[in-house]
Amino acid sequence: MAKEKHSHPASVRARVEFRPGDRLTDRDPADISLAPGDHLATAFAEKVLLAELAVWQERLYAEGLGGGRRALLLLLQGMDTSGKDSTIRRVVGGVNPAGVRITSFKKPTVEELAHDFLWRVERQLPAPGGFDVFNRSHYEDVLVVRVHNLVPAAEWTRRYGLINEFEQRVVDSGCHIVKVMLHISKAEQRRRLGERLNDPVKQWKYSPADLAERALWDEYQLAYQAALTTCSTDAAPWYVVPADHKWSRDWIIANLLVDAMRDMQPQYPPPNYDVAEQKRLLAASD
Ligand code: AMP
Ligand code: MG
Repeated sequence: MAKEKHSHPASVRARVEFRPGDRLTDRDPADISLAPGDHLATAFAEKVLLAELAVWQERLYAEGLGGGRRALLLLLQGMDTSGKDSTIRRVVGGVNPAGVRITSFKKPTVEELAHDFLWRVERQLPAPGGFDVFNRSHYEDVLVVRVHNLVPAAEWTRRYGLINEFEQRVVDSGCHIVKVMLHISKAEQRRRLGERLNDPVKQWKYSPADLAERALWDEYQLAYQAALTTCSTDAAPWYVVPADHKWSRDWIIANLLVDAMRDMQPQYPPPNYDVAEQKRLLAASD
């Protein structure tokens, strides 16, 4: 498939990748320099990428039906209002819904809490051929859980290693993982929370609890830093996507997904019937 003219996928991916040793404070949430042009040019480039993504996704789905084991998982993390839902709507909304599954991880239920923290995640992993999205994930178990001391420090500390082992196993089983942190600034969060409060059709998205979490902003950034550093692995690297500007954010994520698919090169399965014979039979039918 031809590469999209305006984009430089390899360099974009390399520029948003988070490597052990990198610092989150060095990443500018308002950076728009990765986008291929201004708002309009980028929106157009995004359309082209999403059309390509839709074709790849159909191929992946067909490959799975044909017995292939591979799948693609987009994992989204980010502070409140960072745009997890709207990213899913905008970037994932364009592909064939038959092959897509979206899972939102909320506060664990009593049943979920009775199990290991990875239990509920394992059960939602994509089926072969699937293109799945995690809206929040097992990383909550080293983010909100760490910030609020929901389990003893000794417990959340050992989770980083368990997460790395888990993700390695998932990747080895054929599932490609794209882990994205939607990185917004504290000022942009204030603006977005204000938007929710000021607009009657957005007030349902606001919760007074959001302000309590906002007050813990610095603690969350430290917890993110630890998760990004410890769990950005060769098998499943983290990408920190500047997310103050939605148009640039969406293009970067479309780019990461198309890049992943180009690496995977999913293939339509060969027909499991004799095409020539079926053509003859069709011609002979009335
Ligand atoms: P929302 O994404 O706005 O629907 O909120 C989901 C809430 O569930 C967030 O406040 C998360 O921090 C919380 N949550 C998700 N996973 C966990 C977890 N493992 N432990 C505690 N809280 C969680
Ligand atoms: Mg919320």
